[in-house]
Amino acid sequence: MANKRVLITGAAGFLGSHLCDLFIAKGYDVVGMDNLITGDLKNIEHLFKLQQFEFYHHDVSKFIHVPGQIDYILHFASPASPIDYLKIPIQTLKVGSLGIHNCLGLARVKNARVLIASTSEVYGDPMVHPQTEDYWGNVNPVGPRGVYDEAKRFQEAMTMAYHTFHGLETRIVRIFNTYGPRMRLNDGRVLPAFIGQALRGEDLTMFGDGSQTRSFCYVSDLIEGIYRLLLSDYASPVNIGNPNEITIREFGEEIIKLTGTNQKLVSKPLPKDDPKQRKPDISKAKELLNWEPKVSREEGLKITYDYFRNLPQEELMKSAHRFD
Ligand code: UDP
Repeated sequence: MANKRVLITGAAGFLGSHLCDLFIAKGYDVVGMDNLITGDLKNIEHLFKLQQFEFYHHDVSKFIHVPGQIDYILHFASPASPIDYLKIPIQTLKVGSLGIHNCLGLARVKNARVLIASTSEVYGDPMVHPQTEDYWGNVNPVGPRGVYDEAKRFQEAMTMAYHTFHGLETRIVRIFNTYGPRMRLNDGRVLPAFIGQALRGEDLTMFGDGSQTRSFCYVSDLIEGIYRLLLSDYASPVNIGNPNEITIREFGEEIIKLTGTNQKLVSKPLPKDDPKQRKPDISKAKELLNWEPKVSREEGLKITYDYFRNLPQEELMKSAHRFD
């Protein structure tokens, strides 16, 4: 029997590339797709020599044509950091709307199951803590994060409509802050920002007073949760993330300790609509998927730091964090 074949959009990105690795390791044929706006071929170059792997340099917001059977489609194409979606707001909106429409259309033709990458950003600046899947959120549609948050909310609505109207098999994962190797040093997110600054001998830029919280999940835990959700029979959204919550100030202190830097935390203005708190309620994932995170922050941060400090020096230097 032929291998199952999976299409992964955003394949050259942080999460997309880890998904490619997982599906290859599990014996699937993988078709990766990416327009390389925020993705990087370096993340998947080790797969190019494999017969089970193909790559399409294509913008998923335009019509998708992939010949042959496809069993699963995972839509992971999207800018995913506040700095990126401020720089490319229209593409962010398009990939969450036109991009998912193309994936869903392709899935109907191929009779494939679709899993979409949604996000804790659908909860906005949440008034319910920790966030459960039945919370509808507190999103500012016209604020700087609106292009991402609303694209992802639309993507969920569109996916549900294909499920209920066309009977398509669909899955929705709401991803909370995730970290690990292959994050982009200059994507502006807090972990690469802090580690990059420590490695360059700069102070660590803490936004606001650092009292806002996040809950960081190591990438291998997240990828395993996504795989289990894909194979489950549950079509409503499921949170996948690590409920271990920490303030950004404490997080900065942990990075200072880990890297042994002599620099300190300096406060910078808090970006508009920056959520004050975020922590997933993962009861559903536990119950439905028998999933919970296994990698502690201490362990995950160590692996991630080793990855960043072994990057070429030029890459580290050209990634200086900017606030203009
Ligand atoms: N943050 C920070 N310094 C930075 C980058 C981010 O203090 O250099 C803060 C940011 O304001 C937010 C938290 O870290 O409160 C997480 O930010 P990130 O961009 O990683 O993700 P998100 O806000 O989407 O959770």
